[in-house]
Amino acid sequence: MEKIRVAVVGADGRMGGTVCNAVKAADDMELVAEITINDELTTSTLNGAEVAVEFTVPSATQSNVKKLIDLGCHVVVGTTGWTQTAYDDIAAKISEDAAPHVLIAPNFALGAVLMMKFAAMAAPYFESVEVIEMHHPNKVDAPSGTAIATAQKIAAARRDAGCQPLPDATETDPNGARGSLYDGVPVHAVRLRGLNAHEEILLGNPGEQFVLRSDCFDRGSFMPGVLHAVRKVGALPGLTIGLEKILD
Ligand code: NAP
Repeated sequence: MEKIRVAVVGADGRMGGTVCNAVKAADDMELVAEITINDELTTSTLNGAEVAVEFTVPSATQSNVKKLIDLGCHVVVGTTGWTQTAYDDIAAKISEDAAPHVLIAPNFALGAVLMMKFAAMAAPYFESVEVIEMHHPNKVDAPSGTAIATAQKIAAARRDAGCQPLPDATETDPNGARGSLYDGVPVHAVRLRGLNAHEEILLGNPGEQFVLRSDCFDRGSFMPGVLHAVRKVGALPGLTIGLEKILD
């Protein structure tokens, strides 16, 4: 069996290091490049990689992805902090048939992806909904990409169902205690030593609360999703956003 040649960009980071080990352990993949912040992205450093997995920092990811596209490599991106403008920029760059393919997922954990799906299903049936994301304090961006994606899916489902705006009588909140609004949905970010990656969605109606929660205790929880994306990206032309698009 021919192995997929994989490069990891951000190889000495927490996620990048975990991806390197997962690729090495996969029978159908070969880890051909471990690229750190000290390495240039070139044909030589990519060492013949067909797919690059990018887990770096929000300030570097877009430019890394563009360089990888120019080098003819398919890209699987886990770095968070992407905006719609940045997605549009990448989509425009790879609009031609022969261009490499890019898959960006704010969350590669199956439980988190299902949680977002269930949140969108439930949201139209409740008056109130709020998102709380909780992470380790070394995370540099807030709120998490998953929380933003969750809020956007909730908002879209409520819009489609013709729901009323969320009730909230707050008149004064000078320091943002009510969180940030994403498409009208409040998102709260907690940074706590001891946590890894967690999210809760609170849905409320008069007299009842429904809570959805996902906990990723360990970075290993993301690896089946990352490896699945590496296997699939070669057959997915253009830009694909979200692991849910490749769950058969
Ligand atoms: P991390 O430990 O800080 O790792 C980031 C690594 O990228 C660091 O080693 C950093 O080097 C390196 N780096 C920075 N700029 C670079 C560049 N231009 N080229 C190559 N490497 C570069 O962070 P992490 O915990 O692994 O998280 C990485 C990203 O993944 C974050 O955005 C996080 O939110 C996201 N994430 C996504 C998922 C998902 O399922 N999609 C899951 C978990 C985390 P220095 O330390 O030397 O600056």
